[in-house]
Amino acid sequence: MIHEYYEPVIGLEVHCQLLTASKAFSPESAAFGAGANTHVDPISLGHPGTLPVLNEHVVEYTLRMGLATHCKIAPRSVFARKHYFYPDLPKGYQISQYDTPICYDGFVEIALEEEESGNGWPGDVTARTRRVGLTRIHMEEDAGRSLHDQDPTATLLDFNRCGVPLIEIVSEPDLRAPREATLFLQKIRQIVRYLGICDGNMEEGSLRCDANVSVRRRGQAAYGTKAEIKNLNSFRHVERALEYEIARQIRVLEGGGEIVQATRLWDADRNETRPMRSKEEAHDYRYFPDPDLVPVVVTEELLEAVREALPELPEARRARYADEYGLPAYDARLLTEERGVADYFEEVVAALYKLTKGGDTHAQAKAVSNVVMTDVLRVLNERSLAIKAFPIEPARLARLVHLRLDDAISSTGAQELFEAMLEDESSPDEIAKARNLLQVSDAGALAPIVETVLEKHPKQVKTYLSGKEGLIGFFIGQVMQTFDGSPDPKRVRELLKEKLNERR
Ligand code: ADP
Ligand code: MG
Repeated sequence: MIHEYYEPVIGLEVHCQLLTASKAFSPESAAFGAGANTHVDPISLGHPGTLPVLNEHVVEYTLRMGLATHCKIAPRSVFARKHYFYPDLPKGYQISQYDTPICYDGFVEIALEEEESGNGWPGDVTARTRRVGLTRIHMEEDAGRSLHDQDPTATLLDFNRCGVPLIEIVSEPDLRAPREATLFLQKIRQIVRYLGICDGNMEEGSLRCDANVSVRRRGQAAYGTKAEIKNLNSFRHVERALEYEIARQIRVLEGGGEIVQATRLWDADRNETRPMRSKEEAHDYRYFPDPDLVPVVVTEELLEAVREALPELPEARRARYADEYGLPAYDARLLTEERGVADYFEEVVAALYKLTKGGDTHAQAKAVSNVVMTDVLRVLNERSLAIKAFPIEPARLARLVHLRLDDAISSTGAQELFEAMLEDESSPDEIAKARNLLQVSDAGALAPIVETVLEKHPKQVKTYLSGKEGLIGFFIGQVMQTFDGSPDPKRVRELLKEKLNERR
């Protein structure tokens, strides 16, 4: 939201559920989607006499995120108990980190609006980037879930989620518009998915965020008083809740009022934020170090091992695509958006290089990029499929691209072949043959037809020879119509020129 006199200031707190098999401090399964209260255990429920033991993968996953976002890593950090009373928190406290988070002082880069780079590729753009500081990333456990809408007379409790590991990523107040907040959240989602530490599924709640927002007069250095909007679980909600809240705060200030620091809830149905509690009613969490857990010590060896195992991240991959495959920035960005799609693209290119054994490798990579960007991504989208479930294996798609590059099939033929391959597991060659998509390009079969066409149209031949070379299109059309099958138009044009020249 652009306002003449006011500038929004936004900082997000993002919670990501880690994809560990077991819970943060107990061996119970952390899987999503099980029947209510089937993944419960005495440790996560905080029964007396039980002791939590830290799952080492939680540390490893958090370190991955910290390294990928340029954080400093604390060699020693501690867990703290954060106390509050809520029915879905049976222990009465949540294990979290307070004054010593494991990662701090990092940043991510988001791409703001895009500008034409003017280097000739359609849609090629360079993005202006903005660095968004990360105050901290800490480890904590999740609470259970209260279900308010399953039974009209009661609130039901599901404790499966108790003790499931989370990381909380806290941004600096560096964002200046609702759109930037969404871009930031998308960036976080992209990174955790690349790292394989969180599935980023906002509908299932494995990625969710609290948005803090204030407004200040443009040119004013100090931040205004903020409101915190709790538990936003979709990109759309984040953007709309922030837009609403910014407009509300500006209205209050313009009316001579003051913003009170408060926690608010987004009501998606009514499209507004509502106060939940003010700062005066704010919780005193009575944090103190958890006496049951030893400090987390990150050794140089551990850090090095995690660093070594980090996958190539989107920025690096994008740069490599421009470099290694000569792809336009637009393609590189789209293809690297998701790790699985980028892997798929690279497998298709590798398979194609094996078939072509040389030639213009950049043109070959661009041909693969075109099919992946337009057709593969379209099908994934239409069918809500993950790339892992895409029906055409890389080697088969490579053969399709190969056939097209060789002009063995036309572009419409390639399209038909692609659609057919989605349903049919036979080889692309077999399908193309069965559907009569292979273009005839050998002169032996085409030459007699070319001759017949020229003989049938002596007037047009004369006109052509007198200089009206545009008539070539007419002859090509005649040959294509007469021939039973799919002639390669390039080859037809060559043959026609040859035969016409013989008549000069
Ligand atoms: P609190 O003490 O209320 O928890 P913090 O300083 O820890 O506040 O910040 C929590 C989140 O709020 C961070 O993401 C931070 O970037 C953001 N934030 C802090 N101050 C402001 C402000 N004045 N306007 C908007 N966001 C803010
Ligand atoms: Mg805080």
